[in-house]
Amino acid sequence: MMRKKLVVGNWKLHGSLAENEKLMHELVDQLKHLHNADFGICLPYPYLFQAQKILAKTPILWGAQNVSQFYDGAYTSSVSASMVAEFGCTLAIIGHSERRSYSHESNQKAVTRVKRAVDAGITPIYCVGETLAEHELGQAKSVIEEQVLALFGLDDATYAHAKALGLVIAYEPVWAIGKGQAAKPEQAQTMHQFIRALIAKRDKTFAENVRIIYGGGLTPENACTLLTMSDIDGGLVGRCSLNAIEFRRIGEVASDTKQCVVEIVEEA
Ligand code: PEP
Repeated sequence: MMRKKLVVGNWKLHGSLAENEKLMHELVDQLKHLHNADFGICLPYPYLFQAQKILAKTPILWGAQNVSQFYDGAYTSSVSASMVAEFGCTLAIIGHSERRSYSHESNQKAVTRVKRAVDAGITPIYCVGETLAEHELGQAKSVIEEQVLALFGLDDATYAHAKALGLVIAYEPVWAIGKGQAAKPEQAQTMHQFIRALIAKRDKTFAENVRIIYGGGLTPENACTLLTMSDIDGGLVGRCSLNAIEFRRIGEVASDTKQCVVEIVEEA
């Protein structure tokens, strides 16, 4: 099964109007020849309007880094999925580990947010991943299993709509995020394959089609070894998404992994 790779930048709490303008124009320029992969950026809410203005006529998608678990109401500081959809967002990161740890976001809450995104026509990028402690205790698979199976708590109509929107799963081992140290490719592949098998237990066709992207220390230097793994369908990129050249170099690999054969053979 050939799944088109997807590379999404997670800008986190970075940027300003001036910096974003420069970076987005650079990205448009750097990515313009890469037609065999999909690209997106998820940026802070106040800049979604700016992203819409700059990226609307380009192939680069833009999205939010979260959406509220509520449709509307007295929830000060919350931002709903339908609000971000008004700014042309087609993506939303949900359940990022920084949300799960700093805001104690449970699987249940994350899945409710997935539902709100889907209801607004937004493709969720649902993040899963084990912490260092869980990893060291050998609990990685059970944690991932619980996080992935939570998705099956969606009602049938929402689940069908999520599939139609191309719901993405991001495997992000928490111990690798922001550390400049990615998981070993075989290690990541094992988890991606495990996630796909979990989905297959419920839904074989979706398991074949779902894009499972890797996040955590993905760089131009390790992109070849990770993105050539058969169950890794792209990347969620933090640090390297803030530099258009580095993001393009990861994008080049995603767009054409054949170039990696030469590189890996040369290394051997
Ligand atoms: C992330 O936060 O989703 C991420 C993958 O960060 P980094 O690439 O910096 O590890």
